[in-house]
Amino acid sequence: MKDNQTMADKIEVRHEGMRIGGKTVFTDNVIEVKYPYTDEVIGTVPAGTAEHARQAFEIAANYKSKLTRYERSQILQRAGELIGERREDLAKWLTLELGICHQHAIYETKRAQDVYQFASHQALNDDGEIFSCDLTHNGKDRKIYTKREPVRTISAITPFNHPLNMVSHKIAPSIATNNCMVCKPTELTPLTAIALADILYDAGLPPEMFQIVTGLPQDIGDEMITNDNIDIITFTGGVPVGKIIADKAGYKRQALELGGNDPLIICNDLSDEDLEKAATIAVAGATGNSGQRCTAIKRILVQESVAEKFVPLVLEKAKAIKFGDPQDPETQLGCVIHSQAAEIFENRVYQAEKEGAKILYHPGRQGALLPPIVVDHVPHDSELVMEETFGPIVPIVRVPDNDEEVMAISNSTEFGLSSGVCTNDLNRAISYINGLDVGTCNIWEQPGYRIETSPFGGIKDSGNGVKEGVTEAMKFFTNVKTYSLPWP
Ligand code: NAD
Repeated sequence: MKDNQTMADKIEVRHEGMRIGGKTVFTDNVIEVKYPYTDEVIGTVPAGTAEHARQAFEIAANYKSKLTRYERSQILQRAGELIGERREDLAKWLTLELGICHQHAIYETKRAQDVYQFASHQALNDDGEIFSCDLTHNGKDRKIYTKREPVRTISAITPFNHPLNMVSHKIAPSIATNNCMVCKPTELTPLTAIALADILYDAGLPPEMFQIVTGLPQDIGDEMITNDNIDIITFTGGVPVGKIIADKAGYKRQALELGGNDPLIICNDLSDEDLEKAATIAVAGATGNSGQRCTAIKRILVQESVAEKFVPLVLEKAKAIKFGDPQDPETQLGCVIHSQAAEIFENRVYQAEKEGAKILYHPGRQGALLPPIVVDHVPHDSELVMEETFGPIVPIVRVPDNDEEVMAISNSTEFGLSSGVCTNDLNRAISYINGLDVGTCNIWEQPGYRIETSPFGGIKDSGNGVKEGVTEAMKFFTNVKTYSLPWP
């Protein structure tokens, strides 16, 4: 804080309850939520237990929604509108619990609004199929039809880095398909998920269809995976927890949307003007949401023959970023989730330096406020770029001019989420689209570029190949029932 006031003097500290079966449920033990910029407590949520999760799943499993497509669409549309109407308040709390700057928080509210808009439209589409049976050797005068049905309950476990949008990507398709979901948001940034639940209830959603339980993973985590009423687990988070879930979930259907280590590849066919454009993409992609996007640019792979021209452009753009007080509307880069995370990432930079990298810009870290550190000549197998360094570091790896070698380097990590390639040569673009082992390849865009209904998800350690995005999630959240009728 820039003055003597504490955050508690400026805001009303939120003491939230869980949302179980339409009731607000508190517990004696609570989990504190801290503002990363000052480390002050800005709210608490209950330290819920497995018993709370059990109750919520029981309520969800016993509720059979009768909402029509029209009603679901209306609820989703209204939820999107309410997010728009409450944008400033949501953004304020996103900044307070996550530490990202206000500008990035506003961006997230708009993405979430899009999710509800798409889900509202999709709820109106009849996704059944019809097959005539008179088109085979042994055909008959009948027809086969399909319809999609909701499951018993869905368990959603969400990460800290997109407290509004990630939960929205779970609940909006769940509502669109008439499902009941129990969500356990992360203990680090749970307040926005609770605010979102209230928005949905205000929009007309029966409370049984979306419940929120909070708690520490060791107290409540197993129940979110193994409860008998769960048919589907939709998890977004890091690789280690994703693999624990995969081990424990057994027969239950799982969507595992895990970490990333995405490259932006800068090809040697670019003009000076193109390199400028590529540098803008590189810096924005590495620093957006404080580098805490699963699809943030984690490695800038630049081909040798353009590196000397490209690197100064990146440096200039990184230096121009105004980082600091996340609540200042002018700030373009705020904090990472806590100072321990910032320290780990900074240490990885120093480790890379010992391995031959050159730090070009590092104006100093203050707690969780990690600047956009620009580091060049990073060895491609350095921990800084082999692991997911979940902060606004801008690491440049100089790679050979041969595209096959670049693809081999790009594919050499355990991750396979997304990627971006800057080239004007269509043949090269196609080679990269085909050759990169990833879930998405964006030509002339950040790896994170998507619209909220396009299919999204990774392979290898980044995910089990199940796609999210409103349309795919609606398919994943339903069972196809096939039936046939004796009429042509
Ligand atoms: P995390 O894996 O530490 O935690 C995610 C969630 O799992 C939290 O709600 C946490 O409480 C819960 N959890 C932890 N241990 C558990 C256990 N044993 N049983 C059940 N639940 C448990 O992830 P995080 O640090 O909150 O989020 C950042 C990670 O999420 C990054 O790796 C990022 O790349 C990834 N992510 C992926 C995507 C994607 O779409 N692929 C999107 C956003 C974030």
